Amino acid sequence: MPSMIPITDPERQYISFRKEIDAAVKAVLDSGRYILGNNVAALETDIAAYCGVGHAVGVASGTDALHLALEACGIGAGDEVITTPFTFAGTVEAIVYTGATPVLVDIDPETFTLDPARAEAAVTERTRAILPVHLYGQPADLDPLVDLCDRHGLWLIEDCAQSFGAEYRGRKTGSFGALGCLSFYPTKNLSALGDGGMVVTDDAALADTVRMLRNHGSREPQRHERIGYNSRLDELQAAILRVKLRHLDALNARRREWAGIYDRALGDFVTVPRATAPRTHVYNLYTVRCRQRDRLARHLARSGVATAVHYRTPLHLQAALRGRYAGTGFEACERAAAEVLSLPMFPELRSDEVSEVCEAIAIFAEAEETAAAPAG
Ligand SMILES: *Cc1c(COP(=O)(O)O)cnc(C)c1O
Repeated sequence: MPSMIPITDPERQYISFRKEIDAAVKAVLDSGRYILGNNVAALETDIAAYCGVGHAVGVASGTDALHLALEACGIGAGDEVITTPFTFAGTVEAIVYTGATPVLVDIDPETFTLDPARAEAAVTERTRAILPVHLYGQPADLDPLVDLCDRHGLWLIEDCAQSFGAEYRGRKTGSFGALGCLSFYPTKNLSALGDGGMVVTDDAALADTVRMLRNHGSREPQRHERIGYNSRLDELQAAILRVKLRHLDALNARRREWAGIYDRALGDFVTVPRATAPRTHVYNLYTVRCRQRDRLARHLARSGVATAVHYRTPLHLQAALRGRYAGTGFEACERAAAEVLSLPMFPELRSDEVSEVCEAIAIFAEAEETAAAPAG
């Protein structure tokens, strides 16, 4: 049986940059400096510049980036943080770690991101922060969210784990909030060969606090002013990320190119993602909507095309969150959970594979139409 077209394939990216990555890894191994050295510092400088902010702090994962960002804002027990239930678990776990209550608010069905009007309606006197997620690689509606935070004196913390490189009104995601949180998990747009994350911010004091928290609450050796964490990005991952950062715009352009082909080929059969102005989309995932989602997924599996559902069970329905969140009314989120399907999407896809995916979906659509046509 021929192998499946995968939904993502980090190994292909490693192979395509193997020479550069192997040289960077060897240089770290030979340097004898494995934690908080030149590679982490240089990556922080380059990513801050890329995002158009003053500071960046490498941490151990995207989830840690969110956790330390919230903690740097002083958020804790008794506080509320407004976010979306239609996201990866790490978003909401980070809020729970601080002792604050996640207040879950339904999504805008067009963009799958936090609905600003519902977010505003959920603000109480305990609300301290709004945490939008730029899902699938498309920015949330940032103008009304920035405005909402300004009017109510709330922190805006962006979950950019899926949106590194995406722009809103010509500015990079991560530069709108007090803090932006990146993940370098191997399937993200800028990906490590292991775990990693980063907090970006224009606020020197917040950057300093995150720096202290990531390293055992310590700003200088032997002095611990707070209980902190071991959440450092390591030198090997930072060296690999520096190699890939040089190629990030080209990699995102390649994702957009595949998305354009999917858009044109599939638009009549399924609802394709729309990158509406003033946003750009970086397609961490290429996620369509289809009423016959599960049947389409089975057909694609039989046709050699891998798919995945992001996310089949929204967070308000997960056992881990039972009794731990506030909020009600998740119709848009639950409908999306029943209809979304992510197709193969990564820069190293080949055009014959993209054509095969399109072909397989066209065959499904034709069969559905025939089945639905009146007899005779
Ligand atoms: C991947 C992801 C995270 C968590 O990142 P890790 O590096 O895996 O901890 C958080 N939020 C979203 C939306 C993600 O996709």
